[in-house]
Amino acid sequence: MVGESGRVEGQLVFPTEPERGFAEAMEKLAGAIDGLLESAGCRREELVGVGIGCAGPVNPVTGTIHNPFTLPGWEGANPVRVLGERFGVPAHLENDADAAVLGEAFAGSARSLREVVMLTFGTGVGGGALVGGRVYRGVNGEHPEIGHILVDPEGPECYCGVRGCLESVASGTALAKAGQAEGFGDAAEVFEKAAAGDESASRLVDHAVAAVASAFWTILHTFMPQKVVFGGGLMERQFEVFVPALREKVRLAERAWEQRFQFSKAELANDAGVVGAAFRALRGDEIR
Ligand SMILES: [Zn+2]
Repeated sequence: MVGESGRVEGQLVFPTEPERGFAEAMEKLAGAIDGLLESAGCRREELVGVGIGCAGPVNPVTGTIHNPFTLPGWEGANPVRVLGERFGVPAHLENDADAAVLGEAFAGSARSLREVVMLTFGTGVGGGALVGGRVYRGVNGEHPEIGHILVDPEGPECYCGVRGCLESVASGTALAKAGQAEGFGDAAEVFEKAAAGDESASRLVDHAVAAVASAFWTILHTFMPQKVVFGGGLMERQFEVFVPALREKVRLAERAWEQRFQFSKAELANDAGVVGAAFRALRGDEIR
């Protein structure tokens, strides 16, 4: 539950359990909304809208979900219609990465900026972009798949079909996989050992840092953004490791172009998507 200013006023967290079907998930969501209103002493009439951030692919225009990867069996399901009718308010659906960049621009580290790109590093690498204060949408309303920017043509295979995507080099999953081949437990241990001076761990971290810096360079020159925001669990803990390489790319870019570029860690952590989805319900589709 998010207030007018973008502050999270209440929160319920529960697993999606896609295998139990779309209808049951909607029942659970509707019950959660009622529960949050009640616990805050709000009446139903005070609810102005419902915003949904969902793992893509989703179609924000029609409100439908097309995600056979993590929401199998939900093909064509429409949470916008179901929740909108249930509560009698407008409902909106955004890809979760798009919702996150809207959240950071509404009430986080990119407050009121209109040219913003956000990258989210976790299991994969997600991305969203604001252009002129609006979510950038490609064909069918799709968002840019920044995780699949090529950073190393000789790099590890990516599930998308090529080698060396940002996601296949620098996601938490990719680092854990590369680390396990060298005898480390997970991505956190790779960073820990690298910080302690371990050579093979440092090589893996350096590779990830170079990959992120290379993607950052591509993003700066593609979008000319005011700010690039780095979020997700991996950046939450390890952002400082990436800062010197990012700063160097900014220095080079600013030497070449009349443009000032900023970058920062995300401020809203896991709430970014929640706040961004709420923004759609509270303020419409444009950051002002
Ligand atoms: Zn890929």
